[in-house]
Amino acid sequence: MRITFVGTGDAFGSGGRFNTCFHVAAKQTRFLIDCGASSMIALKRLQIDRNAIDTIFITHFHGDHFGGLPYFMLDAQFFSKRTAPLTIVGPVGLRKAFAQVMETAFAGSNSTVPKFDLQLIELQAGDSIQIGSVIVHHAQVHHGPVDGPFLAYRFEVDGKRLAYTGDTEWVDTLYDLCGNADILIAEAYFYEKRVRFHLDLVTLETHLPRLAPKRLILTHMNDDMLSRDLSGRYEKAEDGMTISL
Ligand SMILES: [Zn+2]
Ligand SMILES: [Zn+2]
Repeated sequence: MRITFVGTGDAFGSGGRFNTCFHVAAKQTRFLIDCGASSMIALKRLQIDRNAIDTIFITHFHGDHFGGLPYFMLDAQFFSKRTAPLTIVGPVGLRKAFAQVMETAFAGSNSTVPKFDLQLIELQAGDSIQIGSVIVHHAQVHHGPVDGPFLAYRFEVDGKRLAYTGDTEWVDTLYDLCGNADILIAEAYFYEKRVRFHLDLVTLETHLPRLAPKRLILTHMNDDMLSRDLSGRYEKAEDGMTISL
């Protein structure tokens, strides 16, 4: 499996980074985890084949994780000339939020019927699903009073476990979902400042012995986190970085 960090930024362009989007190329499938507002630019910069992406998993409906879908959809319709089916998986409310984001970005676009098969799957609490060769587990996390639900994911593919916290303050459900992952991608928005609805590195650190990831990669960092030299201690995601496992 090869993971490409297409976008590793927050919502506010910290460090000049693109919004959240990870591309996973497994033996039998390729998928995105989140598709933030700037993801189409980032995907094109990395020359990633959009038509080869089978599935897009969405953690939540904030623009920096979800706002790239209208551009992805219109590109698929008019430029990449997609014919392959596309599945978008996300929290309950996905269908409504998808229609809204399409209409907000391009009025009338939601009533255009795509030239390819489009399936939207809303994950009910507790559902684990299999999509092709990928087993998908999720849990609800805490990232705000409105606009939820907010999800964290664990993907099991090619015999490996890839976990992603999404945006969230610490919740104990992350132990089960994200524990013992081959790769854990974790939000570390702040270094030590505790704020509601986001994870800071010092808090995350206290849970690492139990989470026990084989490899931890920090993402969604603010300018303070980005400016800190954590070399030798922690690995920070970078836009365009790829890892294989
Ligand atoms: Zn975010
Ligand atoms: Zn968010």
